[in-house]
Amino acid sequence: MELLRNHSLRPYNTLNVDATARYFARIRHVDQIGQALAAAPEAERILVLGGGSNVVFRSDFSGLVLKNEIRGIRIVRSDDAHVWIESRGGEEWQDLVDFSLEHDLGGLENLTRIPGSVGAAPVQNIGAYGVEIKDLLESVEAVDIRSGQVRTFSNSECRFGYRDSIFKHELKGLFFVTGIVIRLARQPEYHIEYGDIRKKLEEYGDQPLSPRLLERAISEIRAVKLPDPRELGNCGSFFKNCIVTPDDFERLRTSYPALPFFREHTGQIKIPSAWLIEQCGWKGWRSGDAAVYPQHALILVNYGAADGEQIYDLSERIIASVRDTFGLVLEREAQII
Ligand SMILES: Cc1cc2nc3c(=O)[nH]c(=O)nc-3n(C[C@H](O)[C@H](O)[C@H](O)COP(=O)(O)OP(=O)(O)OC[C@H]3O[C@@H](n4cnc5c(N)ncnc54)[C@H](O)[C@@H]3O)c2cc1C
Repeated sequence: MELLRNHSLRPYNTLNVDATARYFARIRHVDQIGQALAAAPEAERILVLGGGSNVVFRSDFSGLVLKNEIRGIRIVRSDDAHVWIESRGGEEWQDLVDFSLEHDLGGLENLTRIPGSVGAAPVQNIGAYGVEIKDLLESVEAVDIRSGQVRTFSNSECRFGYRDSIFKHELKGLFFVTGIVIRLARQPEYHIEYGDIRKKLEEYGDQPLSPRLLERAISEIRAVKLPDPRELGNCGSFFKNCIVTPDDFERLRTSYPALPFFREHTGQIKIPSAWLIEQCGWKGWRSGDAAVYPQHALILVNYGAADGEQIYDLSERIIASVRDTFGLVLEREAQII
C-alpha cells in the first residue's frame, strides 16, 4: 500500500472537477485500510471513494481518500430457482451486471450502465427503471474504518429508502463497504413498465424477452438520454425527485394543473424534480463552464473548467428558485464533499 500526498482527484470524479487529496491510498485488500490509516495518523477525515460518479469535491480534501480497488466476483451458492453472487466492493458495477448476464441470470438488467463501483451501490441504494439494488441484495459486508472489525449487514439492517441507506445516516463515513451478496433468479421477473422500455422493445420485433434483450434496450435508452461522463463531466441526477403527501400534491396541483407525478406504493406522490427545475427556467442555463444539461434539467454538467464550488453554487440557486416557486425543497442526490 502506497500513501500518496497531495494527489489530484480529477481523474477520480466523473464531474471532472479539479481538487487534491492530502492523502490518497488505493485499497486492494481489506488489511490495507488499517495500513493506510496508520500511515496517515493526522488525517481527521476519511473518504471512501469508488468511481467518483456521485461526488462533488467543493474544495481540496484535507483528509485521507481510500480508493476502493478490492476485486472479485463469484457465485457462492445456488438452488433450482436462484443463484447468489458475491462481488467485492471495488468491482465496477457494470462488470457485475455483465457477469450476471453471462450466466443467464435475471435481475440486474434494469440497473445496467450505472457508473461506479459495487461498494457504493448499497450506500445510495442505486435504482433505475423500476428496480433498486435493495430488491436483490442479500447482505453487505463492511469494515468499521476505525476499529477494523468486519460486519455483515442484512438487507433490513441497511434500512434502504429512495437513494438512501443507513450508510448515509447513522453510519455515514464510518464503514468501508468491502463486498455484497445478491440473489438473482434463474426465471427472471421483468420490469418493462417504466419510461420508454416497451417502445424500445417493439423496435426489436418479436424477439423473445430475455435479460440480455432488456439490458440492450435500457442501454440504448440511457445512451440517448444521459451525457457520457467521458465526454461531458457530470454525476448523473444531481437532485432526488420530490416525495410529497397526497394532500400537499393536491394543493400544488390546484396552482399547477400540468404537474406530472407518479403514485408510490406507499401512497406518497413522487414529483419529477426535472420538471420543477425546467419550469423555473434552468434547463440549458450556463455560467462559465457550470451548466444545466440542455437535454435533461436534473443533470448538472461541467463543460471543462468549472470547479466544485461553481457546481455547488449552481445547485444552491436551483434549490432556492424551486423552493420560492413551488414551496418544495430539492434534496441533492450527489454527495457534497
Ligand atoms: C451518467 C450517470 C448516470 C447515473 N445514473 C444513475 C442511475 O440510473 N441510478 C442511480 O442510482 N445512480 C446513478 N448515477 C449515480 C452513480 O452512478 C451512483 O450513485 C453510483 O452508485 C456511485 O458509485 P461510485 O462508486 O462512483 O461512488 P462514489 O461517487 O465514489 O461515492 C459516492 C458516495 O458513496 C460513498 N462510498 C463509495 N464507495 C463506498 C464504499 N465502498 N463504502 C462506503 N462508502 C462508499 C462515498 O464516500 C460517497 O459518499 C449516475 C451517475 C452518472 C455519472
